[in-house]
Amino acid sequence: MRELSGRAAVVTGAASGIGRALALRFAAEGMSLMLADVDPGGLAETAALAEKALAGPGEVLTQVTDVSDAAAVRHLADRSFGELGAVHVLCNNAGVYQGGHLWTRTPEDFAWLLGVNLWGVLHGVHAFVPRMMAQDTEGHIVNTVSVAGLFAAPRAGGYAITKYAALAASQSLAQDLATVGSKLRVTALCPGAVRTRINDSGRSRPADLVATPTDDELAAREAVDASMARGVEPAEVADLVVRAIHEERFLVLTHPEFAGRLRRQTELLLA
Ligand code: NAD
Repeated sequence: MRELSGRAAVVTGAASGIGRALALRFAAEGMSLMLADVDPGGLAETAALAEKALAGPGEVLTQVTDVSDAAAVRHLADRSFGELGAVHVLCNNAGVYQGGHLWTRTPEDFAWLLGVNLWGVLHGVHAFVPRMMAQDTEGHIVNTVSVAGLFAAPRAGGYAITKYAALAASQSLAQDLATVGSKLRVTALCPGAVRTRINDSGRSRPADLVATPTDDELAAREAVDASMARGVEPAEVADLVVRAIHEERFLVLTHPEFAGRLRRQTELLLA
């Protein structure tokens, strides 16, 4: 999709981090926006910044939305198509993180992680994609996966499981759209470390934060801190996403070393 100006984008997880950077970048491209998040304060801040960044006559709308709730995402879609008239770019970006050995994770932990990181993507696909297809115009779905969806890391198993599944959902969606000759394209965004708050408050479920961290949790946090030293800025990720939309690229890796690891992994699988 070459031209973004005058088109409309929906971004989930827009109150912070990568979602906020995507919103600001799309606004600067002249796109109208529907921004969604569970955090109303952060969402209002992003909307005010996006209004300032907006190039052209577009509009910036917000909707407090929990992406793990199918009805809430359907409502988001109804408002997006109703008030923006069309949706050309959908970013299923909202996500949560939790570290810790796999055997320490409870069914509630998995339900929480899967609810946002996997169901959030699937609800977005279900509520938006058929209506985007019916528009019969070019369009792009960007799912924020993670490098954790390509290589599972120690003490991040719960997160990796959700991101492997989100990558599979992205691949299946791309294949399904291609088989029906759709004009929609898909990108699986796989960042390594990005300097956002997911690595602080999002390290544990909010309910866990009041408890004294266990040694296991502290070790997981140290590993995150170490990777943050090589982290990139959210705005750099947003630049890559716009390039991926222009160039119709499926896989976007934010750190060059992952391309080498992926090649070696593929060679091993094929050998
Ligand atoms: P962030 O914490 O800054 O932003 C995530 C946003 O998602 C927050 O605004 C949060 O309120 C929102 N959110 C959480 N649960 C939600 C829900 N149920 N419904 C709607 N919104 C919800 O972190 P970020 O790094 O910008 O994360 C964005 C995406 O990038 C996530 O999918 C994350 O897994 C992915 N990612 C981040 C990194 C990194 O190092 N920061 C690396 C790889 C992938």
